[in-house]
Amino acid sequence: MSQRILSVALEGDKDVVLVRQRARQISDLLGFAKQDQVRIATAVSEVARAACFGGIKARASFVLQDGHARQQLEVTVTAAGAPAPDTKAAALADAALVTAHRLMDTCVAGSAAGGPAIHMQKALPPQGPISPTRLAQIATELAATPAGSSFEEVQQQNRELVETLAELRERQDDLLSLTRELEDTNRGIVALYAEIEDKAERLRRADEMKSRFLSNTSHELRTPLSSIRALSKLLLDRMDGELTEEQERQVWLIERTATEMSELVNDLLDLAKIEAGRVEPQPAPVVIENLFRALKGMMRPLVDTERVELVFENEGVNEPFESDEGLLSQILRNFISNALKFTEQGSVRVSAIYEFETDTLRFAVTDTGIGIEAEHLQLIFEEFTQVENPLQRKSKGTGLGLPLCRRLAELLGGRVDVSSRPGVGSTFMLTLPRLFPHPAPDNA
Ligand code: ADP
Repeated sequence: MSQRILSVALEGDKDVVLVRQRARQISDLLGFAKQDQVRIATAVSEVARAACFGGIKARASFVLQDGHARQQLEVTVTAAGAPAPDTKAAALADAALVTAHRLMDTCVAGSAAGGPAIHMQKALPPQGPISPTRLAQIATELAATPAGSSFEEVQQQNRELVETLAELRERQDDLLSLTRELEDTNRGIVALYAEIEDKAERLRRADEMKSRFLSNTSHELRTPLSSIRALSKLLLDRMDGELTEEQERQVWLIERTATEMSELVNDLLDLAKIEAGRVEPQPAPVVIENLFRALKGMMRPLVDTERVELVFENEGVNEPFESDEGLLSQILRNFISNALKFTEQGSVRVSAIYEFETDTLRFAVTDTGIGIEAEHLQLIFEEFTQVENPLQRKSKGTGLGLPLCRRLAELLGGRVDVSSRPGVGSTFMLTLPRLFPHPAPDNA
């Protein structure tokens, strides 16, 4: 639905000034902001000037359009005849259209009442619709407000120009301070990055020093520990004569402590070697049957067959797969010896299965032991972590086995996982790719 507001006849330059004033008044009464008022007034007066150029009669009508999401002010400028075939007139009309396009929401060229027409629209500000009563009031106000003289219009335009310039300056100032703020932030970020890099470098160096320290100390400790163990063994074998019962007990204690210490030193050395990048997996075809047979032999001395049975189950992995058998065996030995340590009664099952979807092998060591509380499941993979339990004191350990397993698994391109229920048992899993992930050749 459209409601008429005002119609202005355009017959000369004076009317162009008039229509500009009317456009500003109408947009003001319809609630447009100051800037939009200037935009509408400028678009309408430019189109009006082009329409009545060369003495052609024209008309501008202001209408309120309903039916859209928001009401629209529509201004149609209709010329009574075709424009003079004059290049100046054509250039003026083009420039007016470009201006109107820029300043209004839409601007369409068409025809009305037998002559060419330009329709321009701008949506009203979202302050609620103008009712027919309000529109009638606006019409009365317009009739009561006579248009000012050209001189007044020039003054008004100057005022608008000054206001626009002031606003432009303000925006420029805002932009300048925003740019400065951005520059400061950028400088801050660059400084932070430098700090992070510096810290990362220091961490890298500290890590290197830790690995070097560990491997040096471990080497220094290994030799005396081996001597202690060898000498204790000589004494226990009565090479240097008979021992009293008390002496035997004491030498046995020395031997056991030295053995535990060399286990700790070996684990530390292994970890240090991995961290220093000095462990290089040697992939080769691995046959499960052979691996399991070797493990069975190695672990037999640790199994107390009265209480626990150690079972190996190959679930159909017949094809060889590619991995480093030594490192793989080290991980499984760790899992199995833990399972045996923490299982008083029942079984420890070692299984292997091929998972087609992921092209991986899954090893699982399942025990019927004391289990691990959920809150400790991640902690046990951290260095020197042991969970307090009645079996812990009986069984010795370093708290380095599982962290070592995790690093070794990563070296083999796989991962370790655990699931456990206290009082029921635990399952430690190792997942490995069927084909060893060889690093891409270095082209540099
Ligand atoms: P260590 O066995 O030398 O103490 P690990 O890193 O191998 O060190 O294991 C860390 C801790 O995780 C163990 O001390 C134990 O508390 C817990 N744990 C490991 N395996 C098992 C298992 N199969 N059942 C119960 N607890 C376990």
